[in-house]
Amino acid sequence: MSKWDAVWRCAAVVLALSVPSGARAQQLKIFDAHLHYNQEPNPFYPLDKVLEVFKRNGVAGIVANSRPNKGTHQLVEAKAPGLWVVPFIRPYRVRSDIQTWFNDPTIYELIQDEYKRGYYRGVGEFHIYGRDAEAPLVKKVVDFAVERDLFLLAHCDEPALLILFKHNPKAKIIWAHTGFSTPPERVRELLDTYPALMGELSYRSGITEGGGTLSAEWRKLFASHSNRFLLGSDTWIHERWFGYDTIMKNYREWLAQLPAEQARRIAYANAERLFGRKVE
Ligand SMILES: [Zn+2]
Repeated sequence: MSKWDAVWRCAAVVLALSVPSGARAQQLKIFDAHLHYNQEPNPFYPLDKVLEVFKRNGVAGIVANSRPNKGTHQLVEAKAPGLWVVPFIRPYRVRSDIQTWFNDPTIYELIQDEYKRGYYRGVGEFHIYGRDAEAPLVKKVVDFAVERDLFLLAHCDEPALLILFKHNPKAKIIWAHTGFSTPPERVRELLDTYPALMGELSYRSGITEGGGTLSAEWRKLFASHSNRFLLGSDTWIHERWFGYDTIMKNYREWLAQLPAEQARRIAYANAERLFGRKVE
C-alpha cells in the first residue's frame, strides 16, 4: 500500500465515521409545533411558497395557527401532500387582541365558532402573564379545551402556567418557548409535576453554548425528558419566515449531537404521540 493509499483509506474512515450523525440529522423529519401563518391582511409568503419552505426543510408536520384564523383554514384546505397540518384555534383577530383577549367575551365566542369547523386539535398560541391568568374567561377557555380534549399552546410565565393548571389539572399544555429562560432544573421539576406539560423550544435560551455545542444542563435534561419537548419556528413576524431555513438548520445542528432516539423524539416522534398520527 502506497503512502497515498493509506492517506485515502484514512480519509475514507474519517468520512464514514463523521457522516452518519450529520446525515442522520439532515434526514430527520421535523414537526414544527409553533407555526403562525398570519395575514394582516396579506401573508409574507403565498401558500405555494410556504409549502416549498416546509418541503426544503424536511418539515413534514405543523401546528398551524394564525391571526386571523384564515391562514390556518388555508393550510388545512390545501391538503398538501407530505404535510400533516394540526390546526389550533388562535384566539386573536388582530394584533391588539394579544393584550385584551382574556377579558373579552367576543373572544370566547370566536373560539366556539371556530371549533365548529370540526378539525381543530388545540387552542393557541395565546399570551398570558401572572395573575391575568386568573380571569374567569381564561378558566372558561381551559375548561373548554379539556372538555373537548384540545391542547393549549400557551406563551406564559411560570406564575400563569401554574394558574392554568390550577384552573383545570387535566389541561394539556404546550408551553411555548419553555419559559424562555426558566432554569433547566426548574423546567425538569415542572415536567415532573405536570405529566401533560410539553415544552416547545423556539427562542429558548441556553440550549447551546458558543460554537453551537449543546450545553451540559440541556443535554442532561434531554437525556431524561426527551419525550417532553417539541420544536417550533414561531413565525410571528416576517423575519422568522425569512430566517426559517436557518432556524431549522440550527435545530438540526444540536439534534445531531444527541443520541438518535432522543433526537427523533424531539424532532417529530413526540408530536406523533400527542396528535396520534405518523409523519410521512
Ligand atoms: Zn408564537
